[in-house]
This record gives sequence, structure tokens and C-alpha cells, in this order.
Amino acid sequence: MSRTILVLNSGSSSVKYAVVEPDSGAMLVDGIVERIGEGEVADHTEAMRIVFDELGDDMAAVIAVGHRVVHGGPDLYQPTLVDDEMLSKLDELAPLAPLHNPPAVLGINVARKALPDLPHVAVFDTAFFHDLPAAAATYAIERDLAAQWHIRRYGFHGTSHQYVSEQAAAFLDRPLGSLNQIVLHLGNGASASAIVGGRPVDTSMGLTPMEGLVMGTRSGDVDPGVLVYLWRTAEMSVEDIETMLNRRSGVLGLGGEIDFRLLHKRIESGDEAAQLAYDVYIHRLRKYIGAYMAVLGNTDVITFTAGVGENDAAVRRDALTGLTGLGIELDEHLNASPGKAARRISADNSPTTVLVIPTNEELAIARACVEVL
Ligand code: ADP
Repeated sequence: MSRTILVLNSGSSSVKYAVVEPDSGAMLVDGIVERIGEGEVADHTEAMRIVFDELGDDMAAVIAVGHRVVHGGPDLYQPTLVDDEMLSKLDELAPLAPLHNPPAVLGINVARKALPDLPHVAVFDTAFFHDLPAAAATYAIERDLAAQWHIRRYGFHGTSHQYVSEQAAAFLDRPLGSLNQIVLHLGNGASASAIVGGRPVDTSMGLTPMEGLVMGTRSGDVDPGVLVYLWRTAEMSVEDIETMLNRRSGVLGLGGEIDFRLLHKRIESGDEAAQLAYDVYIHRLRKYIGAYMAVLGNTDVITFTAGVGENDAAVRRDALTGLTGLGIELDEHLNASPGKAARRISADNSPTTVLVIPTNEELAIARACVEVL
């Protein structure tokens, strides 16, 4: 039996798990325990017990546990062996990522107790973007204040952006170092990145995963004046504003659905709010594509990934039609053909190649673990 890695992604109300064979890339098991704290699954300890029950014999070949951690803050970015000191550093980062980091720390604690003899490794969603050029990472706000509070653009979904950009180079059989790439990670969360020779030069998420593209439930970019206005004039509390921007905005807030399959159904039935949600989503996406093409100068490849990017041909078409002037020529037939594997969807003569590549954050985390060990 080949060695495997257990990959855990602990959120506030769910734990996603997978057992991955890093050498072959095979995913042996994967699943999710949801609704933690809502009755049947009382807490993360109970959730982890369910995970281990489900895994059973699949635990036998596990040599390490890889934990996805959303925010590594200014100092944590290499995949890191978990110890008490590192966990207390992570604890201190809670204010930077109050929605994401505390459940990850909780998940690590519970898993360490359950599996004390295995090494645990934290892999950070911010890591890939740690060395973002200062011009892209810096907010134009009062400099000393930003330094004091570690305010910069950190970027997220890094594991996916890195993995997909490497896969794109492999698919094209070109050296990663020779390519200018744009990666569009469009899932429930969504982010874009511009990558030169394997190194990111810009990304759409910032201090938190709220900036940038329109998402399932998150607003992406808004005028910061809107927050001040809601606080001062609408008298909303900080917590209400945060919840509204994170959970009741995006395509859900505008169009009543998170899932693009359902959003399309509403649009087909003539729902104008759903149509506007879609239009706003596409408009923002096109703006980021254009911005990143300007950042890159020359764009060799644009890759779509994650739930929407891999499956929604209409989103890909509407994001890229009419851009022949920028060197993008989609092949309508290739784009509309569903598939599970990495594939090209641009025309043969398109100066910029457009790809669809399934992301695999679990495999990337498993391989990062092996490197640490
Ligand atoms: P997460 O960000 O939670 O990891 P995913 O990357 O799995 O999410 O993306 C989930 C989203 O992908 C769904 O909410 C839905 O909008 C979209 N999606 C999944 N399958 C399809 C499909 N066949 N057609 C269009 N959209 C899809």
C-alpha cells in the first residue's frame, strides 16, 4: 500500500476531508461533514469522530495530516509543521481572519488530539502571494497605520492558483518560467491572479477574501464609503455590515441564488434580478481580465478553474466574447463541450490560449506536506 496524506479543511460549520496519494495523485476518499453545531453534529470534536469513522481502514496508510489554513498573516507562509508555538502564532492572527482562522485552529487542535503520533502540517491559502510586488500588495492608505496593523493585500486561493498555473504549463508542454498567465478561480469564493513565470504579480483578494470579483455570497469590490455610510447613516453595526458583505451579497444578494445552475434557471424564466446578478458578475470578471492583461502586457494563457470556471460554459463565453482585439478567440464548440479533464477552449489561431483545468487543492496540500516531511 502506498503512503497517503489526510487533508482537512475545517470551516466554522463544516469539515472537508480527503485521503490523497501524493505520488500518484489519486484521491482515495473524500467527503464533508456539514452542519456542525446545528444538532446532530454538536461540535468539531464530534465532526472529526465522524470523519475517522468514515475513513476506517483508509487511515492505515496515512503518514501525515495536511490542514488548509486560510490566513497565514505576514509571517506564516511556508507549509509548516504544526507545534504549540506555531499554533499560538495562528491564534494571534484570528483578528485578521475572524471568520476563517479560528475554525481552522480548532480543527488542528482536535485532529492533533485524535492523531497525536502523526505529523500535522499547516498549508496557507495566502502563501503563494507572499512575495507579491509591493505595488500590487500595498493599499494607498496612511502608511504607518497600515504597517502597525499589518494591512496589505495578502491574496487567497493561493494553493489553487499555484497548482492550476503549474498544470497549465504542463498541459501546454511549455516551461512555467516562460509563461504570462491569468488564472480565474471561480467557485463559491472567486479570485483572479496574474502570474509571470510562475510568480504572482497581482491577485484580486486583499486583506481578507472579500475583495475583488463578485462571488456566491460575497460582494467583492465596493466603495469603502459604502461601509462608512451603512455604519453612520443606516446605523448598522460592524458585525451586521460584515455579515451582509460576506453572506448576503454577491450573486445571492442580487439574484437570490448562490448556485449558478439555479441562477441560470431563474434567468431563463425571465427573472430580472437574477439577470442583473449575472450581468454584474460578468462585468466585474471582464474588468479584472482586462486589468490583468494590462498588468502582464502579453498574456500567453488564461485558465478557468473551480466549480463555476470548470463547468459553466456561459460564464466563460460571456467573460471572453468580443475580446479579439485583445488577442482572445474562443472556440464556441470546444467551450460548450463539457469535460472533466484539462482542455483547451480557444481557437487554434488565438494569440492567447484559453484553458479549463480542474483545480485540486487537496493534492497540492498533500504534496506540500510531503515536502515538509
Ligand atoms: P467552493 O468555493 O465552495 O470550493 P466550488 O469550487 O466547488 O466551491 O464551486 C461551487 C459552485 O460551482 C456552485 O455553487 C455552483 O455555482 C458552481 N457549479 C458547480 N457545478 C456547476 C455546473 N455544472 N454548472 C454551473 N455551475 C456549477
